[in-house]
Amino acid sequence: MLRPVTTGSPRRRHTHRRPRSRTARIVLALVAAAAVLAVAALIVPMLLPPGPRPPFQLPVACGETWQLGTYPGHDDYDVDLFPIEGEAWGRPVLASASGTVTVAGINGSLGGRTPENPEGPRGRGGGYWVKIDHGGRWETQYLHLLEPPMVREGQRVVQGEQIGRLGSTGNSGAPHLHFEQRRGWEKVETWFDGSPSGITHDDREYTLRRTSNNCG
Ligand SMILES: [Zn+2]
Repeated sequence: MLRPVTTGSPRRRHTHRRPRSRTARIVLALVAAAAVLAVAALIVPMLLPPGPRPPFQLPVACGETWQLGTYPGHDDYDVDLFPIEGEAWGRPVLASASGTVTVAGINGSLGGRTPENPEGPRGRGGGYWVKIDHGGRWETQYLHLLEPPMVREGQRVVQGEQIGRLGSTGNSGAPHLHFEQRRGWEKVETWFDGSPSGITHDDREYTLRRTSNNCG
């Protein structure tokens, strides 16, 4: 006759468990409390309502007039900036408002479009780019810079400070600055010098002109 084979009784396993010491319980409780606080510190600021709009200015040199535009498929509220006079390559790109740099690096891939080889291979994404946190859950983004940004992550910048030079890295057809303003989780219409830009939906191709009052 075969008998069922047992592989150790539950009762015996229980004899190996010892109650946790008081110290271990306190340490566990402290670790759990610290974890809850850490998560709260990350999440609570994201749930707070955004603060007032910072006094954004056009992210290019004081007094210059630039063309702002968009086109189908670009994405609502995204703005492409081209100078209406002079060479676009290498033009200073300025902080739209004061803040702290949160990203200064490469988005996607750079490609090979340079002043010497403007029809070089296209990259992907934003190329050399910068993100600035302006507080109150407001953020700006600057894409397709020519060279590694002139700022580093964590650096404090003031309005009008140069953060890079205009280029055509990433997925860019011609040298220009792709610029966005974000409030909380969402992109919003860009505002400059106290008024909305008028670049809203990307349902059609259109442009307009603005003169920079980013004058320090
Ligand atoms: Zn763009």
